[in-house]
Amino acid sequence: MTGNESRFANGPFKGQTLGQAWPAMTPEWVGTAFARDPLFPLLVKFIFADEKLSVQVHPDDSYAAEHEQAAGGRGKTEMWYALRARPGAEVLVGLRAEATAESFRRAIADGTAENCLLHVPLSQGEAIFVPARTAHTIGSGLVLCEIQQQSDLTYRVYDYNRRDAQGRARELHIEKALAVMRFGPQKGGKTKPVAMKNSAMTKTFIAACRYFLTEKWEFTEPVAAASSNEHFEILITLEGNGEISFGGARVEYGPAQTWLIPAGLGKFELRPHAPTSLLRTYPPASVDAARRELAAAGLKETEISRLVHT
Ligand SMILES: [Zn+2]
Repeated sequence: MTGNESRFANGPFKGQTLGQAWPAMTPEWVGTAFARDPLFPLLVKFIFADEKLSVQVHPDDSYAAEHEQAAGGRGKTEMWYALRARPGAEVLVGLRAEATAESFRRAIADGTAENCLLHVPLSQGEAIFVPARTAHTIGSGLVLCEIQQQSDLTYRVYDYNRRDAQGRARELHIEKALAVMRFGPQKGGKTKPVAMKNSAMTKTFIAACRYFLTEKWEFTEPVAAASSNEHFEILITLEGNGEISFGGARVEYGPAQTWLIPAGLGKFELRPHAPTSLLRTYPPASVDAARRELAAAGLKETEISRLVHT
């Protein structure tokens, strides 16, 4: 939904793709606090997992910068929020403590790679943080909203011996995967959100890292909000509909939309016509900046440490 080919449906960039509009965006749009990258920094997707995804891993920035310049040179840290989950649905994130490069290589060869991964049951409304270098796959029966670094670097290690209609298997990248994969103590997994209620809404802080800070907003009454001049933000509507009003203008929102809120927008208001839930995500200037924003929102130090992944 924020890929380079995604098109603006309204606003001054209406009709343009994000890939076209991004280089033309001024600091009033992008924000003042981070270095410009040729690519829009975040990729937001909805994933409808009817079948299991391949077992895969993404490199981190330093490996990508050294070995993958031709493919953009960026690693990929990601998070998944479960919009729908069938009973028993699970994701596989991280390797078991006893897994080694040798045992994992053998498991790939004999078709039991899944057994080396940690199985994490996932229910609607829960979220998973998947740092770069973490082996992972998504089971069937899930609809996820994925928020991630914009990067194409995926090293597939196992695809359940599936073939496409032409009988071809997807390419595997076992050596690169084993070179970047984290063995031993794992990072990431199910997030431990912190919910804060006020009269207008419930704001649930889900996860933060140097690439994104993600919250869920649930409201039935009008909500007053304001952009930060440091960074743009993305609102991903999950359910509900209503209006966004700003500077005398009004636009209608509906479910499953992605809104780019410019850094310089200033005050805006969300007026729901139906109970609304949305994800708000943005790239903080740094991990410290993310901590500061969480502290400014009233979170305690222990809560901030629970949310921030370094
Ligand atoms: Zn992934």
